[in-house]
Order: sequence, then structure tokens, then C-alpha cells
Amino acid sequence: MSSNGFKIEHRYLELPDSFYTRVQPTPLKDARMVCFNHDLAREMGFHSGNPEEWTGVGAGTELLEGMDPVAMKYTGHQFGMYNPELGDGRGLLLWETLGPDGRRWDWHLKGAGMTPYSRFGDGKAVLRSTIREYLCSEAMAALGIRTTRALFMVSAKDPVRRESIETAAALMRVAQSHIRFGHFEFAANHEGEEALRALVEHVIALHFPHLIDLPRDERYQRWFVEVVERTGRLVADWQAVGFCHGVMNSDNMSIIGDTFDYGPYAFLDDFDAGYICNHTDQGGRYAYNRQPNVGFVNCQYLANALLPVMKEDDVRRGLRRYEVAYNERFLQNMRDKLGLALEDASDLSLIMDTFSMLHEHHVDYTLFFRGLSNLTSRGSSPIRDLFVDRSVADEWLERYEQRLQSETRAHDEREYQMRKVNPKYILRNYLAQQVILEAQGGDYKPMRELLEVLKKPFDEQPDFEAFAAPPPDWGKHLNISCSS
Ligand code: AMP
Ligand code: MG
Repeated sequence: MSSNGFKIEHRYLELPDSFYTRVQPTPLKDARMVCFNHDLAREMGFHSGNPEEWTGVGAGTELLEGMDPVAMKYTGHQFGMYNPELGDGRGLLLWETLGPDGRRWDWHLKGAGMTPYSRFGDGKAVLRSTIREYLCSEAMAALGIRTTRALFMVSAKDPVRRESIETAAALMRVAQSHIRFGHFEFAANHEGEEALRALVEHVIALHFPHLIDLPRDERYQRWFVEVVERTGRLVADWQAVGFCHGVMNSDNMSIIGDTFDYGPYAFLDDFDAGYICNHTDQGGRYAYNRQPNVGFVNCQYLANALLPVMKEDDVRRGLRRYEVAYNERFLQNMRDKLGLALEDASDLSLIMDTFSMLHEHHVDYTLFFRGLSNLTSRGSSPIRDLFVDRSVADEWLERYEQRLQSETRAHDEREYQMRKVNPKYILRNYLAQQVILEAQGGDYKPMRELLEVLKKPFDEQPDFEAFAAPPPDWGKHLNISCSS
């Protein structure tokens, strides 16, 4: 196995012992490699001519030299309630590697069996949710949104009891860091100041090295500001692409601002501001239009955890950066989507009115913006056809054309840039559902094909026009729960 293109480390083990427990993976039966991300492997500094050689590692039957699997301990707020009993209940951090560009990669095997933090869970991951995580993390990366990645996945024969009997799978999830806001809540609430400081210093040293040499108070302050800003920007990116996370608990918030933990997520089809993608979220706490605020609430949980080691004033000042970072990024994202290169005081009201219109008329969010990016070549029909009442579209288009008059770019150039930010292909729930059904029947070709399409979300791919279609009736209201 040519694992020599990267350097092996395991810096997480430098944290105090309370942050982890050593656990060996539980082997899966008759595992089979079903998807391997060669492009990502290259980024990470290695090459696999034969992905099968990684099957044993994915199945938990083989460890490479240097792998030292641990379950990480964290706590967190789930739906607003503090839960001290969390931690890696079915995933293990195997090691960290450093690629040729110096980037660090945590290798986390999700579906590796029970750990001391499994509580009532079985430590397993099912095929359905493993495919969903694989597809979405790669789709998000291709959209240019910060995310954990999928290196490979195996499927197995082991039966797993959920609402029905399903089969097991495991995902090698990789990310620059698997440390969550919940790690800090654990340290602050259960371990005390020294452990908390160790954790802060660890994260700064590994992921915010440009801050290392600052005096301590300033170091912590600047670091907290960056975490808050990254979180605000991440959520602004989600909103702009129509992504609903579904379970924005503080244990699912990455300290480096990655999209983290793909469960019942969804991309919006018809725009619906209050869309709830997690059917166990009855109150709609994590509805699409609440995500920006929930991102802030999570930063508040983090802020509370940091109070033992930071001045209250610094924490408060850092929190204020959330709204600024969110608004700036969101406005920029929407200007880009609309193709507005010059700033106009009326842009915000145009943007908000556009959202209201899309909501009121149940317009497909992705098709609308993609259509706008092709007005010159295709005219307004693709947009007008999205509306039952075309006069609404006409009125809006007139206002939009008016606004475009103050732009100086050529139409072609504007639309070319717009097609680079308005995806043609997103991971609609029904698309995921289709390839999952095929995979459950043993055919992984459709999944791999969908993945290839999602890797180039901004390109026209004439052979795959069907993947850009809005959902058929059966695919409009799929219930996706947390039971993964
Ligand atoms: P999640 O809903 O994936 O964010 O997980 C919340 C908590 O439940 C975390 O502590 C997980 O490790 C744990 N958990 C989720 N699924 C399982 C499972 N099948 N077995 C054990 N623990 C689990
Ligand atoms: Mg989680």
C-alpha cells in the first residue's frame, strides 16, 4: 500500500486523556469497497491503484502501522438541551496524516462499532445514511462550501435494526479537524480550566497557526473571532445554495467552520422559507430560515464554554462578529447569484423581495437562479415556466432588467460568472433516494454516476440533463429522520 506520500501524526492524543478512549473497531462481515475517492486521495498525498486494499481498514479488520483508534469525548446542546453523555458513539479517529501541501487530515471511520459513548446506540452506520453522507459531502465540496470529505466507503452484510432491518456500511470521513463546539462544552463543564486551555491551544496550534505568537489574551480573542466569523460565513453559504442541515446541535458544529455531520439534510427544491428537513424536528427549530440564528446560538454555547479562559468583554465582542460576517457573506453571495457586480443601495430589498416571491409562488430555487444565468441565450421562458402566474415573473424580470442597466459588464460576461455560482446540479433528495435503492439492490453504478455529475455542479452536462430536473411527485416530501 503506497501510504508513503503523507506523514503520519496523531496529535489528538496530545490532549488530556479525558478527551478520548482507545477503542478497537468492531469488524464488519463480508465488507466490500463500494466507492473510493481517488481525487481526494491525491489531494491527501497518496494513490491507490487498487482501492480493495483499503477494504480491511474500512471494515475494521485491519489497522495500518501508526493507526491508534480513539473515540473522542464531547458533549453538547441537542435541540437546546444540554447533553453531557455525547461522544463518538459509532466513529473512531484512526490517525492524522499530513499531505504534501502541509494540510492535516483526520481519518475518522464512521460505523466502526460501539464505544463507551454509544449509550443506547449499536455503533453501526447503515448503508442508506452512509451513501447520503458520502454524496453530500462531495457535492458540498464541489459547490465550494467548507465541509468534511468522504475518502471511501464499504458496505457489509451485517443486519442493522432501524425502523426496518437494513445493512451496515462504514465511511472513512476525513477533515482537517473533527473537533466540535461540543468538545469545548465538555472541557468547560466537566474537566476544568486546564483541560479547556489545552484544547484551545491545541486547536490554535493546529488550525490557526498564524495566531500562535500573539500574547495569550489577544490570541484567544482573535481565534474566537475567527471561529465565529467562519461559522457565520458557512451558514450564509448554506442559505445561498438552499441547504438545510437539519441537526444543528452544538456537537455537530465544527470548530474550523466545516459543514459537519450529514444526517437528515436537504437541498430546497421549491423554495420554502420555513422548510424543515428533519421530520423529528417537530417544532422546526432547525428550519431553513432559522439556520442563521441557530448558528449564532451555537456560537453563544461556545462562548459560554470559553468564559473560564477568556474575558467576558472579549467574548461578547467576538459574538458580535457573527451578524456582520453572516450579513456580509450572504449579501455578497446573493449579489453574485443575481450577477450584480456593482453595489446599489436597493440590492438588499431586491434580494428580500426575490425570496418572498420564490416562497409565495413555490418556485424551484435552483432552476430559478440557473435560468437567470442564461437569459441571453435562452430568453425568459425557462424562468417564466417556473411560475403558475407568469405575470409575477414578468413583473419581477422587468425590475431585474432595470437594475441590470446600472451594471457595466457585458451580458455574456455577467452570465458566464453567474453560471459559476448558480449550480445546475444539486443533490436533490429524490436523486439520493434513487441511487440508495439501487445500491440496496447491489448496484452502485448509479451512485457513482450521480457523484460524477455532482463533482461538476456548475457545468452543463448534456448527457445528464435528467439529474437537473425538479423532483417527481413521489420525491417531493421524502421523510428523512435522524435514525442513521
Ligand atoms: P448525531 O445525531 O449523528 O449527531 O449523533 C448524536 C450522538 O449520538 C453522538 O454522540 C453519536 O455518537 C451518537 N450516535 C448516533 N448514532 C449512533 C449509533 N448508531 N450508535 C451509537 N451512537 C450513536
Ligand atoms: Mg453528530
